Amino acid sequence: MREAKPTTRTTTPKRFHLSSVRELHTGVGSARDAGASVNYTRAPAWIQFEPDGDAVVAVAGGCPVARWDVRGNTVDVAALARETRAESSSSRDAASPSSLLVSIREDTRGKRQGHAVSLNETNGTNGHTPFVSRALVLGFHSAREAREARATLCARSSAAKKDFDTFANGRTTRDDDDAPKRKSTAVTAEDDLFTRKIDIGSAERYFSYYASLAEQQNMLQDRVRTGTYFTAILEHRAAFEGAIVMDVGAGSGVLSCFAALAGARRVYAVEASDMADHCARLVASDARLRDVVKVIKGRVESEATRREILEDLSKGVSKSQLTDSRVFDVLVSEPMGTMLLNERMIESFLIARDVFLKPRGGAMFPRAARMHCAPYEDAALRDEIENKAAFWTCASAKDFYGIDVSVLGDAARKAVFAQPVVDAFDPAILLAPPATFEFDFSRKKKQTLMTSELSAAETSIEETRSASGAFALAAEHLESLRLEADFVMHRGGAVHGVAWWFDVEFDVRRPGGEPGPHRRFLTTAPGAPTTHWFQIRAPIRDEYGVLERVEKNTRLSVATTMAAGSDQSYAVTSRLEVLKAPFKGSTPGTRREPNAALGSWNLKDPYYRQLHWPQPGYTQAQTERWYGDETT
Ligand code: SAH
Repeated sequence: MREAKPTTRTTTPKRFHLSSVRELHTGVGSARDAGASVNYTRAPAWIQFEPDGDAVVAVAGGCPVARWDVRGNTVDVAALARETRAESSSSRDAASPSSLLVSIREDTRGKRQGHAVSLNETNGTNGHTPFVSRALVLGFHSAREAREARATLCARSSAAKKDFDTFANGRTTRDDDDAPKRKSTAVTAEDDLFTRKIDIGSAERYFSYYASLAEQQNMLQDRVRTGTYFTAILEHRAAFEGAIVMDVGAGSGVLSCFAALAGARRVYAVEASDMADHCARLVASDARLRDVVKVIKGRVESEATRREILEDLSKGVSKSQLTDSRVFDVLVSEPMGTMLLNERMIESFLIARDVFLKPRGGAMFPRAARMHCAPYEDAALRDEIENKAAFWTCASAKDFYGIDVSVLGDAARKAVFAQPVVDAFDPAILLAPPATFEFDFSRKKKQTLMTSELSAAETSIEETRSASGAFALAAEHLESLRLEADFVMHRGGAVHGVAWWFDVEFDVRRPGGEPGPHRRFLTTAPGAPTTHWFQIRAPIRDEYGVLERVEKNTRLSVATTMAAGSDQSYAVTSRLEVLKAPFKGSTPGTRREPNAALGSWNLKDPYYRQLHWPQPGYTQAQTERWYGDETT
């Protein structure tokens, strides 16, 4: 699946929930790192510094929702924070803005300059520039509380009023007007693992998108996608025969139908959008399906969904009502978005696993996914992106009806480079063999426990294979990822960014964990038949020309963070560093040339460069080209 290009308007979250922020990390070097820092919090909101350290931006759901110009700031943010904190903790009565959250963090290694976020550009040793960073983040639960909070704040600091108004008026109070008048079936107010992390407005748009037959058609007509699922399910007939199966996010119900054709005893087609009604009609019209597939309209995370399934399952059982829902033999789903994780539906698939899959012997279909990335060179694309901002940067921008709009040139360039590019490209543009990160969806066997600090993706495919038991990837692990890769350039060239693609693997592992006989991949790799996901490229601005000429065999390290947002998407940042051999005779502490470039991208707002894709037949030769002997 792949959600349609959202408009700019719909990417802006209506609410700014910081209510459950527990920690706010403002990473060392974040200001120095030219705005590429995403400060992850468990709640989908964070702050980031603008490159020059002149401003602090609060981001929710991947979108900037407030910006504080802290250059020569006269607002004493620390005092403001202290007062507000005192206010909210001293009186717990209903009138106090108890949910107002103010968080400040200060790094005092640099020289303090008033209350501003400031950079102290003295040379650091070991490559770190000391700096002072401080930030103020305000959040609240509801429009009512926002109003109360604002009143309190405004009474306290008229200087803060302007900043706060921008924030509160621009965002939360607008909730009142924009609040959906109609309750959707998909997004009820029920408190569960979905509603806790996803903005209701985002979810409403998301499920109304999938309620459209045209959008389901778009996915169904992706032959690589649908054909691979069909083949994989029927090839694994042994796992489906007589099985209880769940189709997580059934859409039109196509995968439920395949499971029924493969011999499933009972299939629960769980679909949150109104597409569930079409799905029910489709199933009812076919005698092979109607007694097997049961459509459940609801979110897979919802307790109501679980109860409805338990009730239905209990019908066939003579004993009293079932209480444990972990009776499913197979969970099938197509939860992948661009860059694999967009839409955050894999989290739903994993949550469903924990609630419904048999503790022993249950199969996840797909069993695993892998992300791949590699640096690329594409000067034409780079120029095309630059050109999008040309209106602001070209010579005539200095006199646009007498106004100099070129002052916004840098911001415009930044904005166009923040859009990841979605299209299919020739793999010849890749400058190094790709790095791979594996996400194993299957249930944990023994313990190779991942801590929350250790991102899922840090466990390489090799480690996963060799580990005594596969690790358990949990939904929370996908809230914040750090993906680190080291490349060796297989040819020299300019690094214009990082290209990403993914694949999923269908397999039922043998008891020893070895791949089964029918292991199959659905790949979105460049050079393989194009899918509706295409590939995705993160273009780098490279202001200092660090990546303009990188020689063959040079090592290039790419550290990428992905921070999930309440808009069902991610803020992505990458730091690309050319690892040059040190100069002969260089002494530690010597100032080195800049050798890194940074970029940040909003996965919710991509540039769809290509809207149609060819649909060639899917050939074994192409699979082998990408996976070599893995498929044999
Ligand atoms: N399985 C179908 C549709 C895939 S698109 C196919 O392969 O063609 C993903 C579907 O999952 C969408 O229809 C979407 O509405 C649904 N979905 C996404 N998150 C869900 C959730 N948490 N609970 C139930 N359905 C969900």
